[in-house]
Amino acid sequence: MSKSYIGGCACGAIHYDISAEPLVMNDCQCRQCQRDSGTGHGSYLTFPRAAVTVHGQANTWDLVGDNGYVKSRGFCANCGTLVYLTLPAVPDIFVVYAGRLEDPSRYKPQFVCWTAAGHQWDHMDPDLPRFEKMPPA
Ligand SMILES: [Zn+2]
Ligand SMILES: [Zn+2]
Repeated sequence: MSKSYIGGCACGAIHYDISAEPLVMNDCQCRQCQRDSGTGHGSYLTFPRAAVTVHGQANTWDLVGDNGYVKSRGFCANCGTLVYLTLPAVPDIFVVYAGRLEDPSRYKPQFVCWTAAGHQWDHMDPDLPRFEKMPPA
């Protein structure tokens, strides 16, 4: 069994330990991810929820995504960092931000989605599969 994925918020009040390999790793250029990240895209690792242990109490805020699903973001009330994303409609997954991992080099993006909302200045790896919106299910 490989090393667990650990990470958390900037101040350390909230951290997680994930004892599984990611189901999916992807970049997303949608407007929500631009707002969340403050730059051109978000980079995400999606894990099975059952493998995740969260330490500390995150606050949450919810927003309906472009695909109609509610996205619930867990964030630290102390430092303001977004720590994870969950989807109440898909309760068995848990999504974390690549840059909040203790070792972000473990992030290996498999595709880019929402390129329709991407910007010229936000260059993505040209070798990755690209989807204008969400990839087909
Ligand atoms: Zn914090
Ligand atoms: Zn997005």
